Amino acid sequence: MNIHEYQAKALLRSYGVPVSDGRPVMRAEEAKTAAGELDGPLWVVKAQIHAGGRGKGHFKEPEAGEKGGVRLARSVGEAAEFARQMLGRTLVTVQTGPAGKQVNRIYIEDGSDIERELYLAILIDRATSRISFVCSTEGGMSIEDVAHDTPEKIVTFTVDPASGLSDFHGRRVAFAFGLEGNQVKQCVAIIKSLYRMFMEKDMEMLEVNPFCVLKDGTLKLLDAKMSFDGNAMYRQPDIAALRDESEEDSKELAASKFDLNYIALDGEIGCMVNGAGLAMATMDIIKLYGAEPANFLDVGGGATKEKVTEAFKIITSDPNVKGILVNIFGGIMRCDIIAEGVIAAVKEVGLKVPLVVRLEGTNVELGKEIIRNSGLNVIAADNLSDAAEKIVKAVRK
Ligand code: GDP
Ligand code: MG
Repeated sequence: MNIHEYQAKALLRSYGVPVSDGRPVMRAEEAKTAAGELDGPLWVVKAQIHAGGRGKGHFKEPEAGEKGGVRLARSVGEAAEFARQMLGRTLVTVQTGPAGKQVNRIYIEDGSDIERELYLAILIDRATSRISFVCSTEGGMSIEDVAHDTPEKIVTFTVDPASGLSDFHGRRVAFAFGLEGNQVKQCVAIIKSLYRMFMEKDMEMLEVNPFCVLKDGTLKLLDAKMSFDGNAMYRQPDIAALRDESEEDSKELAASKFDLNYIALDGEIGCMVNGAGLAMATMDIIKLYGAEPANFLDVGGGATKEKVTEAFKIITSDPNVKGILVNIFGGIMRCDIIAEGVIAAVKEVGLKVPLVVRLEGTNVELGKEIIRNSGLNVIAADNLSDAAEKIVKAVRK
């Protein structure tokens, strides 16, 4: 689960980590008061969307100015004007994709005088099953480019969970940043707090870019991207409350309400499968036959007819879907339940694209009979590759 920058900064502040004073703004009328509460003489007006690269992004509407989603203002009036221009507009960045994201919230911050911009990320490294630190002196720019062009400028290390974090980890970050004297001490304290927060809040990733040395020599975190382990939200009510559903894919949101494991993708073939492994294999085989999956969907072992109906509705609501492949291996899940769910859904929402169904396992004959007797135009398939071949062919026609 992701949160907004201003929420992340409030959390950082509560852990004693240095961030700028700022005010979130939801409506243009509030912008002037919010900016007026900050000292100046520099204000930073920041679009709040769950995507990075805002500074270098652009708005779809020219009235929003061509300067992107992070703008520096020299007066309260100018800050309020920038906020007004950005609110309600669609910001496109390298991370939003070409469709962009609507800006519904703005964060106005007290501007800082930057000396140097550094990069810090803390994340869970699946290869080592440890928390990993990634640091670089090349902050402020895309870390992907740094990794590609000058990988020697990125320092990474992991923390042994048994011994936990020590001061030397903080010093390692400080030296990677080229800090000296009192800044090393500041850095060690910040790293300690960040690690504690990461553990206590069940975080998955924290990216600070830029982590700044200011002109007065102090350190400050000027941007923060945080994501949390969705499976831990039951024990993190304060974090769960920060969820902004308007930032999420509407299909994924609907799926989460019905406890379906659904991830939207860019392809044209909608998939309904039981079991994560089979769902992955189905996506692979669709690709093997030259098409792209429109989603990952695992309806789970104990799916009810209602759940299957919802899943089918979510798949058909995707305008990119040109064909649907239902691939069920009935173990705990029974094939007749899937068949009934598919038919109920088709009756409710209609079927405008080809549908290939491959059923195998428990109650398979009953399932096939239900589909045969439904009068629906369903293409039956006998095995996985047959199913993939048939749906790709049907879509290509
Ligand atoms: P992102 O583009 O989405 O990563 O947004 P950031 O919050 O990282 O802002 C982009 C850039 O704006 C930063 O790399 C800084 O160069 C600049 N910036 C952000 N905050 C300040 C500030 O307080 N003062 C100054 N002078 N520049 C800032
Ligand atoms: Mg940034």
